[in-house]
Amino acid sequence: MHILVINCGSSSLKSSVIDHRTGARVGSCVVERVGQEGSRMRFNGEWEPLDAPNIEGALKIVVPRMVENLGGATITAVGHRVVHGGVAFDRPTLITPEVEKAIEDNFQIAPLHNPPNLAGIRAARSVLPDVPHIAVFDTAFHATMPRRAREYAIDHKVAEAKNYRRFGFHGISHEFVSHLAAKHMEQDVRDLRIITCHLGNGCSVAAIEYGRSVETSMGMTPLEGLVMGTRVGDLDPGLLIQMQRDGMSLDEVDAFLNRDSGLKGLSGVGNDMRDIEARAAEGDERCRLAIQVFAHRVRKYIGAYAAVMGGVDAIVFTAGIGENSEVIRHRISQRLDYMGAVLHEDLNRDAKVSHESPVFEISTRNSRVRLLVAATDESLQIAREAAKIVEARQATKGAERGIPVAVSARHIHLTQEAVEALFGPGYKLTERNPLSQPGQFACNETVTVVGPKRQLENVRILGPTRPDNQVEISRTDEFFLGLDAPVRASGDVANSPGCKLVGPHGTYEMKQGVICAWRHIHMHPDDAEYFGVSDKDVVEVAIQGTSRELIFGDVLVRVSPKYKLEMHIDTDEGNAAELSKGAEGALLSATDGNALLRRRKTRFDEVAE
Ligand code: AMP
Repeated sequence: MHILVINCGSSSLKSSVIDHRTGARVGSCVVERVGQEGSRMRFNGEWEPLDAPNIEGALKIVVPRMVENLGGATITAVGHRVVHGGVAFDRPTLITPEVEKAIEDNFQIAPLHNPPNLAGIRAARSVLPDVPHIAVFDTAFHATMPRRAREYAIDHKVAEAKNYRRFGFHGISHEFVSHLAAKHMEQDVRDLRIITCHLGNGCSVAAIEYGRSVETSMGMTPLEGLVMGTRVGDLDPGLLIQMQRDGMSLDEVDAFLNRDSGLKGLSGVGNDMRDIEARAAEGDERCRLAIQVFAHRVRKYIGAYAAVMGGVDAIVFTAGIGENSEVIRHRISQRLDYMGAVLHEDLNRDAKVSHESPVFEISTRNSRVRLLVAATDESLQIAREAAKIVEARQATKGAERGIPVAVSARHIHLTQEAVEALFGPGYKLTERNPLSQPGQFACNETVTVVGPKRQLENVRILGPTRPDNQVEISRTDEFFLGLDAPVRASGDVANSPGCKLVGPHGTYEMKQGVICAWRHIHMHPDDAEYFGVSDKDVVEVAIQGTSRELIFGDVLVRVSPKYKLEMHIDTDEGNAAELSKGAEGALLSATDGNALLRRRKTRFDEVAE
């Protein structure tokens, strides 16, 4: 598919037509200084003057030129970059008038970016009214951040009323390069823990655990985190108060921290790392310090994010500085040996990446953590997301089969070793009743699960025995027991907490294995084909017809010939949806967030009225 990708700033516009499969550019156009003196555009490499009063006027010139340039081929969809999705958008979304309105509602939290983004959307929709337009948000990839990473430690009532929380940015780039890294490593991104360092004019780091962003350094605005070209990054909030006490106005503080800080403020020579490196090499102390502070901050975040994920498999450098500066990569990596990340100095010096050859490995052969340089391509990622929505809308038409939903009460899977410790040597579990998944059964036997705070008695064992012990509890159980159980897919017990088990014969100390099960759907490959999904996809399921209808996001798909179609949720989740026996869920398109937004809004409006 040919996707027109549009990235609209206040006086600039970047657009390209991209084949979403190959990434090939069929045309590109950059427009500068729209509505100002010297306004010009570069179409397929050639600069020419541009006579347009505003972005809308520019798009009216650019888009027909792009279409003409296709030589008869058509544009299937338009992908728009939108910086802030706020709380309304946690995925790429088909644009409708309601979506435009919701983007407008976010102006207050992204005053610099969202207004020109929306102006571009409106203009492009008027020029190309007959193709789908899709908004791809910089914040959306980080929507999976858990609350502990998302919340500021401020009065929660104020935080909720004002949406004062962390969102994260550069998500389009972090997602794109994490996939590039996984492809290079010949592994599924859903099996890897990756730290991506987007180091350009704006800089941020993300912790991507098994394909999902769980932490990132930018917050409510793109000012938090790393040292950037002109932005300060992390700062004691007390300093903001002090600056105002010292007589700076709000606008002065804003300009000081956003435009005059970062590398520019530290070095005193500007925001371009190339200049700073050159001056540092000549002995300029301020530039040397700027480089040290910059690299130190990145290294600090890498250490923190390795701790957040309980380990790391790859560290990826991308964007202008990350892709091009061997000096900065060297400074960041030279003291990461302790975590098993060893830089190969020669490879680091030789590293070169491009759209054609996007990944270059710079770690030594024995480095347990892979160090990679990756060429980011946000336009291609936007094109892919737009194409995904177009395809999903085609694929899910007519997929109206219900999915049986079952509530799993707390239970435990045991190894034979644990069974014998709890019930006696040579003991074999006995079947009480079969479960829906072939070969699985509930046992007559139960145990007591002992946590640091309290204990749960009569926890049912499920058979047959397994290679790893695993206790599956709900969030409510977790608080009751006093444990911090992560949400995990079954079998993924590494670095989860343990507990003590008590049986009639003896006790057993589980070193790890207490988890909250990641809600999931078991599917036979035939079902997966019917629904157009694959193993490890994450989808949404709507529970309708109960008194508390609910859409479950973040539902993991597991496909195996051994499985029978059924969705499994825990008791907290079942109660939240007021689920009764025989309930069914409807699989929503994995990407049609617009349907979701519409649905949410309708429900809200009904209640509000
Ligand atoms: P981006 O925002 O990704 O376009 O990155 C822009 C920044 O990358 C520039 O401001 C430069 O500081 C930096 N950059 C580009 N090339 C190099 C290079 N060869 N060495 C150091 N920094 C570079």
